[in-house]
Amino acid sequence: MMALNIAIAGSGPAGLATAFLLHRDGHQVTVFERFDAPQPVGSGLMIQPTGLAVLRTMGLDAQVIAAGARIDRLFGQAAPSGRTVLDVRYAALGKDTHFGIGIHRAALFDVLFHAVQAAGIAITTSRTVVAAPLHADGGHGLVFSDGAPAGPFDLVVDTLGTASPLAPALGDPLVYGALWASLDWPDAPGFDITALEQRYVRASTMVGVLPIGLAPGSPKPKAAFFWSLRVDHLQAWREAGLEDWKNEVRNVWPATAPLLEQIVSPEQLTFARYTHRTLKSPAEAGLIHLGDAWHSTSPQLGQGANMALLDAYALTKSLRETSDLSQALTRTIALRRRHIRLYQGMSLLFTPVYQSDSTVLPWLRDRVVGPLAKLWPATAILAAMVSGLIGRPLKPLGLDQPAIAVPRMDGHSLIVFDGDCVLCSSQAQFVLRHDHAARFRLTTAQGEAGQEIYRQLGLSTTSLETMLLIENGRALMHSDAVIAIAAGLGWPWRAALAAKIIPRPLRDALYRFIARNRYRWFGRRETCWRPTPDIADRML
Ligand SMILES: Cc1cc2nc3c(=O)[nH]c(=O)nc-3n(C[C@H](O)[C@H](O)[C@H](O)COP(=O)(O)OP(=O)(O)OC[C@H]3O[C@@H](n4cnc5c(N)ncnc54)[C@H](O)[C@@H]3O)c2cc1C
Repeated sequence: MMALNIAIAGSGPAGLATAFLLHRDGHQVTVFERFDAPQPVGSGLMIQPTGLAVLRTMGLDAQVIAAGARIDRLFGQAAPSGRTVLDVRYAALGKDTHFGIGIHRAALFDVLFHAVQAAGIAITTSRTVVAAPLHADGGHGLVFSDGAPAGPFDLVVDTLGTASPLAPALGDPLVYGALWASLDWPDAPGFDITALEQRYVRASTMVGVLPIGLAPGSPKPKAAFFWSLRVDHLQAWREAGLEDWKNEVRNVWPATAPLLEQIVSPEQLTFARYTHRTLKSPAEAGLIHLGDAWHSTSPQLGQGANMALLDAYALTKSLRETSDLSQALTRTIALRRRHIRLYQGMSLLFTPVYQSDSTVLPWLRDRVVGPLAKLWPATAILAAMVSGLIGRPLKPLGLDQPAIAVPRMDGHSLIVFDGDCVLCSSQAQFVLRHDHAARFRLTTAQGEAGQEIYRQLGLSTTSLETMLLIENGRALMHSDAVIAIAAGLGWPWRAALAAKIIPRPLRDALYRFIARNRYRWFGRRETCWRPTPDIADRML
């Protein structure tokens, strides 16, 4: 599509991501924000594999991963019974590339905002948008609270959040909200820095701790601390003072004592209200609502910011692939609608299980659903649900495989192996000897390209827990990589494909066992393996 003049109203995750992606595609973009200086509000949130997939296309995933805390597990216990009622591990999806990132809102905002600034995108602050009138000659303009107009624009993107004045007011505020605070991560036992942990008493009380990595300007890792509270109890909570409340929290979860010590004033806690709403028609000629302006709900499933990023990508992709603006808007909605419906539905279903006055739902949760949820396939389904992957939202966007940027591949597949490991480097030489069709290129994990690939995949660049096979921009790991490499060598090695009948968790467990012991059993090289000149062209 030809370059459009686009106004983005709002500079939350949806607005900033949309601005960045559309500007990169050559559109003329201006962002309008009500704050004097754009800023995030609130504590922490979780970025899921879906959001990371979009951030990866923006080249920002590594920054978000570095700023946040990697979350491998969501864990919840009922109090006082200590019954485990929630135990979701991303590893149940069988892919090491799947994890969440707990991140301070300010850190996520910083990454997006600096990217937008570095791209030279215009951001107009102190502009409270109140309307987006349709102009007689086509296109919407914007009107600000002081009556000043802007535009008209070819396209107005409404990313003003859940109370957007540009969208019809609908949806009821939920009965429960939550108090949130960003605190220093407690240097005390009792917390897992790779887990979002919650404790519940029935569904009326919930306390949670989420590791969120570093806040901008602070060297200490942070935790987002939250306490569920009925909206109509907020005033009473304020009046009661902190001490009674702290006692109540300590009774539910004694380990929170070092966190509670950091709270000396109610001002440190921000009350977040939630509204469940989804627009039926999120677009009209020349205007589209994205992110919370289109759909919002309680953050129980931790998807809102991720959905906002997916919306931004869907609009960009549609504008890129469609020559007509109104068709592009229709296509954006088509790309996202199913996933949004699914998650809005699941949120409606699950929120009362954790935040409501019901006694029946938490009873079922603690005694029936909790125990069942520990069994396969519920473990994998729940992991897919928290990852945002139910309904396969990445597939229609073409984001379903990790996109690995690898230089000079020329249609070859790339093997990344540990050049310090005697076993791995002899396997590499074996591949080079038997790869008569010269299908594979190789590189060591210790080299510049290898390190970059591990970083892109969010894998440790030092422990090198798996070799990698990169094919068509897609990464295979563990036993899948070994089988695919053997198959690529032709017969008789292709027979290794038969190993696929062994369930992946079993194959991968064996792989991990050997990988963990590889230096001990087979030795470690004094210097990283280097190719001889005759095979230098096979190395990246
Ligand atoms: C307590 C809490 C915890 C959450 N946890 C998670 C989580 O773990 N994972 C997750 O993915 N999501 C989470 N969410 C949801 C997530 O924060 C939202 O879905 C996400 O921020 C939506 O992004 P957005 O850009 O659409 O809207 P917003 O982030 O709301 O951004 C809207 C922007 O528009 C500006 N604006 C608003 N009105 C005007 C106006 N009239 N004129 C000009 N500017 C205006 C605002 O200042 C803001 O910059 C959580 C939400 C809350 C409240």
